[in-house]
Amino acid sequence: MTRAGEAGAAAERDAAGERLRTAGGLPAHRLVGWEEAYPGLRAGVTAGAEAGDLGMASDRPPAEWLERMEAALSALGGRGIVLPRQVHGRRVVEVEGRPTGVLVPGEADGLSTSEPGTFLAVTVADCVPVFVLDPASRALALLHAGWRGTAGGVLEAGLAAMEERYGSRRPELLVHLGPAICGSCYEVGPEVPRALGRDANGKVRLDLRAELGERAESRGIAARNLSRSAACTRCGADHFFSYRGTGTAKRMAAFLGWQTGEAGV
Ligand SMILES: [Zn+2]
Repeated sequence: MTRAGEAGAAAERDAAGERLRTAGGLPAHRLVGWEEAYPGLRAGVTAGAEAGDLGMASDRPPAEWLERMEAALSALGGRGIVLPRQVHGRRVVEVEGRPTGVLVPGEADGLSTSEPGTFLAVTVADCVPVFVLDPASRALALLHAGWRGTAGGVLEAGLAAMEERYGSRRPELLVHLGPAICGSCYEVGPEVPRALGRDANGKVRLDLRAELGERAESRGIAARNLSRSAACTRCGADHFFSYRGTGTAKRMAAFLGWQTGEAGV
């Protein structure tokens, strides 16, 4: 297992070019590298306190959540935004049709679409948002991967969904592992590495993005197409919510979609 604090983490590249910026009134860690390479693509993770709580299960009134989601959708230039009820599983739902407004399609930890204007979203606060882009078909998937989902195979399910639904070829897929708790900050009991198929005794530190990166490469994702955020939601806490860091119920929303033109909305 890749251990926390080792030099490897510093060497991880971030070809997706994650950067904090505010566009359309939405402060977010944007995947500027992807957005510049693919005009019309909007990808990123909302900035913690600056963008506010986008978690469905928070103690705030649902109307407030809905308002924030609608504002995010408007800032991104989409027709609809889809956010599943996350259960740390491996189900990846294909968004059907062309939804408008905010849609919750039920329980899942991943979404896919090939429809411009349909924004995919998952919420995170230490778990890894996994962005998948097929430049050939322009299909997209967005996954929520904590340790349970990773052990359960949500990444593998997402890659298989891209292949089956959109004819994606794995060596062409781009995969970005977004802001999440880093290996130095994430201490877990031995049941976690065991669930991931590793031997362990006692507490260990786990770099979930390194684990997901290894899995992605072993499932056919090219190293040149795989990138990892250097940001930690816990020790880089200024612009993030961290469940481990503060016990917060607040969540950031990761988003991925193609903007619609005026005529397409
Ligand atoms: Zn950290």
